[in-house]
Amino acid sequence: MRPVRFNTKVKMVEMPEGSMGEGYFTTSFDKVIGLARKNSLWPLPFATSCCGIEFMATMGSHYDIARFGSERLGFTPRQCDLLMVMGTIAKKMGPVLREVYLQMAEPRWVLAVGACASSGGIFDTYSVLQGIDQIIPVDVYVPGCPPRPEGILDGLMRVQDLVGKESLRRRNSERYQQLMNEYGIL
Ligand code: SF4
Repeated sequence: MRPVRFNTKVKMVEMPEGSMGEGYFTTSFDKVIGLARKNSLWPLPFATSCCGIEFMATMGSHYDIARFGSERLGFTPRQCDLLMVMGTIAKKMGPVLREVYLQMAEPRWVLAVGACASSGGIFDTYSVLQGIDQIIPVDVYVPGCPPRPEGILDGLMRVQDLVGKESLRRRNSERYQQLMNEYGIL
């Protein structure tokens, strides 16, 4: 029988800023919520072509997206908070993508993976959406055709930075409402 090997390299997340004394630690609510959210993002992979294959490699044991607390993929928008769009989005697919986004509860974030999702990529043609930000707001863009798994993980970490620092009031702010209105989302 193989000996059981334990992973001794488990890293704990860093404590948020705050003040500490004997027997107590105080910080702000924003920071605690941000810490929890950023380390438990549930991605919804919306993969239509080759970038989706890179994502599969990112999910695999070598790159292992689970290290970032994001191994729990969801295929229903209602359970996810990170929409990862990977691949060429044809204009016909646009309304479907938008519907998926609308079905996600706030707070939600969007990662555009690869040149096609970000800008249409090489498909500068009448049938392809020239970037998903024409129909939904995007938080982080990952360059590349396709981006390597390291690039996708880097994009995920950039989203984590945003999530961790986001104010709890942002989603109720006038500026955010204005952004949604610009996309015709009320
Ligand atoms: S960016 Fe390149 S690799 Fe990714 S979906 Fe488009 S053509 Fe494929």
